[in-house]
Amino acid sequence: MARVLIVGAGPAGAGLALALARRGQGQVELVEASPEALGRFRGEGLMPSGLEALARLEAWPLPAAVPHRRLSGWSFQLEGRPLFQVDEPFGAGPACHLIDQPSLLQHLLSKAEGAGCRLHLGQAVVGLVRERDRVSGVELADGRRLEADLVVACDGRSSTLRRLAGLPLEEEAEPLRVLWFRLSGPAAEAIAANLAGRFVTVIGSGDSWALFASTRGGLQLGWLEGGAGVAPVPPTTPAAWRERWAAVAPPVLGSRLRQLADGDVEGPLRLTVKVGLAPCWHAPGLLLLGDAAHPLSPLRAQGLNMALRDAVVAGEYLGPALATADASANATAAALDAAAAAVTAARLPELRAVQADQRREAQRAELLRSQGWLRALLRALAPWAGPVIARRWVREQDRLRHGLPLA
Ligand SMILES: Cc1cc2nc3c(=O)[nH]c(=O)nc-3n(C[C@H](O)[C@H](O)[C@H](O)COP(=O)(O)OP(=O)(O)OC[C@H]3O[C@@H](n4cnc5c(N)ncnc54)[C@H](O)[C@@H]3O)c2cc1C
Repeated sequence: MARVLIVGAGPAGAGLALALARRGQGQVELVEASPEALGRFRGEGLMPSGLEALARLEAWPLPAAVPHRRLSGWSFQLEGRPLFQVDEPFGAGPACHLIDQPSLLQHLLSKAEGAGCRLHLGQAVVGLVRERDRVSGVELADGRRLEADLVVACDGRSSTLRRLAGLPLEEEAEPLRVLWFRLSGPAAEAIAANLAGRFVTVIGSGDSWALFASTRGGLQLGWLEGGAGVAPVPPTTPAAWRERWAAVAPPVLGSRLRQLADGDVEGPLRLTVKVGLAPCWHAPGLLLLGDAAHPLSPLRAQGLNMALRDAVVAGEYLGPALATADASANATAAALDAAAAAVTAARLPELRAVQADQRREAQRAELLRSQGWLRALLRALAPWAGPVIARRWVREQDRLRHGLPLA
């Protein structure tokens, strides 16, 4: 029986494990370095494109054990004043959702395991095993080797397997530096009630941050560090952070932020976010998926969604190749390599499109963040300019919400 080994239990790996295991063809195994896929920071934004992928995996609707809720809208604040607000859902399709990603991954993994996938949790892959010029398995940190007809690297933005396979990544010039906070306590709960389910972006003099009520309770706040023309120096104490956020926030939000106690501000967690795209996702015996193939910017919540869509498409192409159970080893290898090449060809257009859209949004935010005259102008004209900008923003969100039609 042909054997597929998936490395990494993020959304790409857990999604692919489920996509392949539920077909019942071939032997599917997954290796994950963490003892459980819960510990790390993970984003919560789920676009209609991700909902579509979950539906294709027969994993949507989700059980109550996976905390999730509809987003009620997007709100953009400029120098303490509303610029525009858009309610969800807009355009065709369902509303964006927020989801507790660790619970989602646990759910996908237990469904995959129930369908026959073998899990190796708490095992890090440290090497690729090769037979002639083909990847034929992996080496684990404890020295054991696992054989496979195809290794699928879903090991995230700093992919060890991508490096070991020598598959190049075209990186964007500067990594993004994001400082991530979790806010809790009575003031945070009051802010969450006031947000009423909206995702809020605040842009002020040299500062830009985003805020939403987490599905785990409390708030999550992401603050962008650095950027062209401005180099905001991050504060070092909770009191200085509160003041910094409040200085560019609308008055009500600002005064509530000032009421946060020191112990209510957890973080920052510093994330250096490398962004890029591998032009080729496959080598004989190996396929890259998710952030390993295309580390995405956190802007407009794409990474989880694109990783799930990679998994769906890879399942569609790899499934039939795995079904050639009685074929010779060479024929199986050829079928899997052809399928891996087809997955790359099917996925690259969508990834190129959403990365282009993310760049456009990032450039606009950067322009606003760095140009005081533009902020002052838009702030003064907000009651008239806001609705015009909102209409244009809505038009431009289509690919970021829905992606391109899935293969
Ligand atoms: C600040 C920030 C906010 C974000 N917010 C959102 C959001 O709201 N919505 C959204 O869609 N996306 C968001 N993203 C992006 C999203 O989290 C990622 O794009 C997504 O998790 C990628 O999924 P993946 O499965 O490819 O990789 P990952 O989720 O990174 O998973 C990789 C897995 O591989 C494992 N692994 C790594 N190396 C090895 C090894 N050698 N051996 C075994 N296992 C290994 C890791 O432990 C990990 O579990 C955000 C990203 C950042 C940085």
